[in-house]
Amino acid sequence: MSELDYRDAGLETRLVHAGQPRDKEYGALASPIYQTSTFRFDTVQDAQKTIAKERPGHAYSRITNPSDWMLEQKIAVIEGTEDAIVAASGLGIIGSLFLSMLQSGDHIVCGECVYGGTSFILRENLPPLGIETTFVDTTDPADVEAAIRPETKMLYFETVANPVMTVTDTEAMSRIAKKHSLKLVVDNTFMPPPLYYPVRHGVDIVIHSLTKYMNGHGDAVGGAAAGSKEDMAMIRARGTSRVTGAPLAPFNAYMIMRGLKTLSLRMQRHCESALAIAEYLEDSEYAQTVHYPGLKSHPQHALAIRLFDGGFGGMIAFDFKEGYRGYSAFDASCRFLNNLKTIGIGVSLGDAESLIEHPASMTHLSVPREAREASGITDGLIRLSVGLESAADLIEDLEQAASHI
Ligand code: PLP
Repeated sequence: MSELDYRDAGLETRLVHAGQPRDKEYGALASPIYQTSTFRFDTVQDAQKTIAKERPGHAYSRITNPSDWMLEQKIAVIEGTEDAIVAASGLGIIGSLFLSMLQSGDHIVCGECVYGGTSFILRENLPPLGIETTFVDTTDPADVEAAIRPETKMLYFETVANPVMTVTDTEAMSRIAKKHSLKLVVDNTFMPPPLYYPVRHGVDIVIHSLTKYMNGHGDAVGGAAAGSKEDMAMIRARGTSRVTGAPLAPFNAYMIMRGLKTLSLRMQRHCESALAIAEYLEDSEYAQTVHYPGLKSHPQHALAIRLFDGGFGGMIAFDFKEGYRGYSAFDASCRFLNNLKTIGIGVSLGDAESLIEHPASMTHLSVPREAREASGITDGLIRLSVGLESAADLIEDLEQAASHI
């Protein structure tokens, strides 16, 4: 096994070693951070050849940087794709992807519930550029087929939708995408390896907000796409390095590589605790409906068992009971969140610290109310990112918060 070739290794070995070459200069165990904006050449000829990609090397960090490159190789090896590209944020990669792969007159079919920022790009930024989106229920292949037009170029959805936790059958979507020659793009932020590998199931491009589980420590923002060399080159050439100019900072690349080493261990714990908390919530007197793919009551539980390996993720959503202690679901959920002590109110997810939020007031505030309600984001919906604390302490915190409403 050569130092950069860990493609056939187990996930945990890939997470630790892939993409990180031995430091030939000093033998540093942790990869150096290439904290530089630009690169110096011995000759103009060397510079010209590097810029023309006729020799290996880097010219300017907006285009490529060795720390970003190491992380890109690690992600490609983790996902089993030809290549990967990182960007300044999850939304940075999503925007770069749309702007580099679509043009005026093109049409997208998208899952009806996606992250609020993605929804904003599709609803507000792309239509003035002549790119339209139809939002559909991707749990129903007939709904998806019916939305496809001659000008449809892309099918986009989240494996587990943020925040309503619906699960989409990637293979069914892949059959539709192939039939209509659509680029199939899946945001897999909620279900990173080892839980799910979308490209093994016919997806062309997998997206991650690296800010979440992939980094896992709440201290760096980043995003990535993984797929074919051709697609990644297109996103880099037209998107991250030019139109959006949104490369990942080298320090963040280092932080995310560091976080990735423990991804598998962390996901195991997130999944175990989330299942215990989802079961507690289902038995509680204040949760109306609990949305967690690991519960038998989840509408796509059988599909989730088929798709996911090793657990059902660390994210839970639940609707607060209308009229609980005389409050509306909206008021009760706000009071509940404000009472929490260990679990923090915050919009992010996938960190060691448990985070909770109210999508209608926070992450999905920019989504029009009508679209929000159609996709299941009610005024009483709460989204919980289960962290790495002990599950018993988290349950105790939830219990005390409800008892003080
Ligand atoms: N995709 C999903 C599913 C998300 O939850 C988020 C952010 O919460 C994003 C993409 C955007 O990622 P970032 O915040 O890194 O831009």
